[in-house]
Amino acid sequence: MEVQVMPIPQHACWMTRKILEARMVWNNCQLMNQQSITRDLYLRLIGDGIRVPWKCLMFSTTAQPKAVFIMWLQLHAKLLTKDRLLKWGSKVEPQCMLCQNEDETRDHLFMKCSYTRRLWDEIARWMQMSSDIGGNWQQHLTWALKNAKGKTIRAQIFRMVYAEAVYAVWIERNQRVFE
Ligand SMILES: [Zn+2]
Repeated sequence: MEVQVMPIPQHACWMTRKILEARMVWNNCQLMNQQSITRDLYLRLIGDGIRVPWKCLMFSTTAQPKAVFIMWLQLHAKLLTKDRLLKWGSKVEPQCMLCQNEDETRDHLFMKCSYTRRLWDEIARWMQMSSDIGGNWQQHLTWALKNAKGKTIRAQIFRMVYAEAVYAVWIERNQRVFE
């Protein structure tokens, strides 16, 4: 399936540019196999026959498999965010490394954090969609699914951008934690 390449806008922030560049590289390298790779990955992780509301984010995406994998963990609240590490007795500072203002949880890191909100705002502005991502996780998921569903180019690009944005936030967070 060929996906139309959208030019990188001049005003895009560095992260949006990174996401779009990653998509272009991915398109060039793996276009023929990506659907089956992602589908394989998904089915191995979740097993056949289990229906989840966010299935549309997992399939027919041109995001890199590693980004889809991190998104899968994020959607399942399985990423090792600091709240989970603390519950298991790890001695870590609870603060979010991206804003230093609140404790790090899945919902904070990917939805409420001022750092991430700027990213969603940037993406929403660029894709000319509502940046009202809601105040809780369910509302955030509803926003994402509304934009991800369908066969339009716009929905295809959103599916890629969502996974790559989640991946970019997680990588940035890890760099700050481990540095
Ligand atoms: Zn934060």
